[in-house]
Amino acid sequence: MGESMHGWTGRLLDISLSDKAATYIDTPFLYDYIGGRGLGVRLFYERASQSINPFSPKCPLIFSFGPLTGTIAPTSGRFSAVSKSPLTNTIFDANCGGFFAGKAKACGIDAVCLIGSCQSPSVLVIDENGVTFDSAKMLWGCDIPTTATKLKTKYGKGVGILTIGPAGENKVLFSTISTDDFRVFGRGGLGAVMGTKNIKAIVVKGKRRTTVADKEQLKFVCDQSRKLLEANPITSIGLKVFGTAILVNIINTMGIFPNYNYQYSQTDKADMISGETITNTILKKRKACLACSIQCDRTTNANGVISRGPEYESLWALGPDCGIFDLNHIAMSNKLCNDLGLDTITCGSTIACSMELCEKGCLSEGIRFGEKGMHDIIRKIAYRDGFGDSLANGSKRLAEAAGRPELAMQVKGLEMPAYDPRGAQGMGLAYARI
Ligand code: SF4
Repeated sequence: MGESMHGWTGRLLDISLSDKAATYIDTPFLYDYIGGRGLGVRLFYERASQSINPFSPKCPLIFSFGPLTGTIAPTSGRFSAVSKSPLTNTIFDANCGGFFAGKAKACGIDAVCLIGSCQSPSVLVIDENGVTFDSAKMLWGCDIPTTATKLKTKYGKGVGILTIGPAGENKVLFSTISTDDFRVFGRGGLGAVMGTKNIKAIVVKGKRRTTVADKEQLKFVCDQSRKLLEANPITSIGLKVFGTAILVNIINTMGIFPNYNYQYSQTDKADMISGETITNTILKKRKACLACSIQCDRTTNANGVISRGPEYESLWALGPDCGIFDLNHIAMSNKLCNDLGLDTITCGSTIACSMELCEKGCLSEGIRFGEKGMHDIIRKIAYRDGFGDSLANGSKRLAEAAGRPELAMQVKGLEMPAYDPRGAQGMGLAYARI
């Protein structure tokens, strides 16, 4: 165990929040898994019963990293969060990029498992010696950028940060966990699980290097991988130049671009919101996660609103699926979701569902497709305020309460993303196994 394993550190950090205790545990089965997701699910499976309530203190929340994290391997900054989803009530894993994973693994751990709940809002600070619990009273209620800025001021610019926004605090069933560099665990509502545990943020401050058995061989394999990425037009040009929104025109041309709450599968307005249009109008800067040459991440300036993205799925859910094709409006919706800690896909899809319910006379309150008012609704969802409270549990519960469950575009409670399975039938199978 330990350094001789290479890639893996051989240790997991088990944190009992209720009694502020932390234990390092050797994990003998690491070689059975390629990376973070398998490891995270295995740890969850060992620690929770199948019927556990996601909001029970006993429900584990696990962040897990892979053996390549911290090396030069392309895209190896990605990592997993695993818990029970309050949206689907199933074991759920979400995936995130950014730089957090490298800094967390540098604390000498392959995973962090949180169980129990803190008595008051807390920040967990993890370094190579263990964990300390700091008060988050001054941060509770802050949005994600404000929280990240305050934490960087307190703990230093070089730390890694995971945080929830007001949506996670208010247990919105599709709230996110965000990194300080604004990559996000978007799906499944794991931000609400973190909020239930009274954890506003996790700060990591590790400095250990991931050890490698054969540096020369790893360098050779990584060079070959980069050449493959360069040879592929999607990873060398499409995603780099136009971002993930390059998919708008491709998917629309294929006739599988859902819009107006999946009532249609194609639009003649795709050019208004395409990756090409974003690059030519609002793109400010390209960025990349740890060890990634693809650089699909971007900063945009839409009418003076500086934000990240919008990514393809966010753009679709907060735009065409709601009958909106105004790029500036979509960019603002996207920023609000990211700042408040809401999953852009479920948020947009749930609002789209409410719009169709409204148009069909099944809801007494709300807006119709293409109407102004989205931004106000997004804020209300995050704070569970008035009409927003009925949307904060996702489209399945909303449509069932309105007596029209067939108008929620979801599988097992999770809203489908931006590929219409009526045309992309293989995608339908992927949705079915959510
Ligand atoms: S920059 Fe894009 S492609 Fe690269 S790891 Fe991050 S999300 Fe993935």
